[in-house]
Amino acid sequence: MNAPYELPRQKVRVATTSLGGCFGCHMSFLDIDERILQLAELVDFDRSPITDIKHCGPCDIGIIEGGVCNAENVHVLREFRRNCKTLVALGACAINGGLPAQRNPLDVRACLDQVYGGQPGPAGGKVPNDPELPLLLEQVHPINEVVRVDYFVPGCPPSGDAIWKFLTDLITGRSPRIEHPLLRFD
Ligand code: SF4
Repeated sequence: MNAPYELPRQKVRVATTSLGGCFGCHMSFLDIDERILQLAELVDFDRSPITDIKHCGPCDIGIIEGGVCNAENVHVLREFRRNCKTLVALGACAINGGLPAQRNPLDVRACLDQVYGGQPGPAGGKVPNDPELPLLLEQVHPINEVVRVDYFVPGCPPSGDAIWKFLTDLITGRSPRIEHPLLRFD
């Protein structure tokens, strides 16, 4: 960490998830490299790709990668909002739908028919309709169209340094600030 900071009295509980994202933002998280050892002293992880916790419990910080593409995304996002004191949109997909939102001008049914119709494969040329599959939404939505969001961290993905700066500011009670050149929108 760059500046003097005040350590929290107890570990901060953090949950993360990927909705309609590519896991690139989570991979960028790992780019904080050896600083993850410092982070481990400051936080405990609730639901995240590195734990086997299926539902987000009460947390201080919830970090969301990806936009809202299907009914399950809505359910997971609302669960995070209910349980997390602070909710963070991490990356372009969570902030504005990102790449998955490129499908928004298209008709979902026509897309599915185009992809699966008449194609050999496990679905036998039909659009898969197992009840276990989450229903696709007509459009991909940024997460703030579904729940209130406290912070937005731009980038596709945000760099590991930007994520580190943001998180350590937040955890140690400073107002998060990501300045140029860490701040980027691509
Ligand atoms: Fe992947 Fe970029 Fe979306 Fe992050 S913002 S989930 S890196 S496409």
